[in-house]
Amino acid sequence: MLQAIPFDWQLRLSKRAKRPRITISSRGKVELVWPHRLSQRHVPHMLHEHTAWVLKQLDALPKQKQQNIKPPHVIALLGIKQTYDVHYSDVKGRFQLAEYDASLTLSGDLRDREALRQTLMKWVKNKGHEHLKPWLANVAQEMGVAYQQVSIRLQKGRWGSCSAKKNISLNAALLCLPDFLVRHVLIHELTHLKHLNHSSHFWQDVALFDPDFKKNRWLLKQYTKDVPPWLTQQFDVGFDGALEEDI
Ligand SMILES: [Zn+2]
Repeated sequence: MLQAIPFDWQLRLSKRAKRPRITISSRGKVELVWPHRLSQRHVPHMLHEHTAWVLKQLDALPKQKQQNIKPPHVIALLGIKQTYDVHYSDVKGRFQLAEYDASLTLSGDLRDREALRQTLMKWVKNKGHEHLKPWLANVAQEMGVAYQQVSIRLQKGRWGSCSAKKNISLNAALLCLPDFLVRHVLIHELTHLKHLNHSSHFWQDVALFDPDFKKNRWLLKQYTKDVPPWLTQQFDVGFDGALEEDI
């Protein structure tokens, strides 16, 4: 006879899963995802076989929890002076995002934090396309410079870049900064079209359009700390579904 399983667990039948797997949520909820078509008579055996692994993961949880980043309830896009309330709805299926006025509703399997985060990031990226592209075009016109292409990314650790081929890349997270700092970054990148360096000539040209650039550079560093972690880091490290073992 099999011994009792030393942790709480739930069985979830899945039509999509090809193989059984165990997932552990950040809150320590253990789920056995079982392919719909597979006979359930091996369930106890599978759990026993993986007990040591599950206990090890559960043991490691408190450490990971400190790094957890909660899904936001408010998103402030200072750059475009918009604040959104975020609502969540726990439903089966792929994530959907509905935007209505200043309110966002995310529907999906809320345990899948990474999918949730990806959905939000995609939304921010779309906002970047919508607002940063025309913004850059306007500032470029004002400065009398021309670039080739612009790409909107959510790259870590940099606000923008400009290549020798005159392609500009902007971080969609710029929208979380106040508009004068977005402008500061745009001017910086556009000035690289003339100077692909940070020489004194570069800064002289920056100053023509951004006389307060020194102060703005300092402010940019301060505001960078306020960019929501879910945009720049993984959120809910060890989030539901991340700790998976194929069995
Ligand atoms: Zn630069």
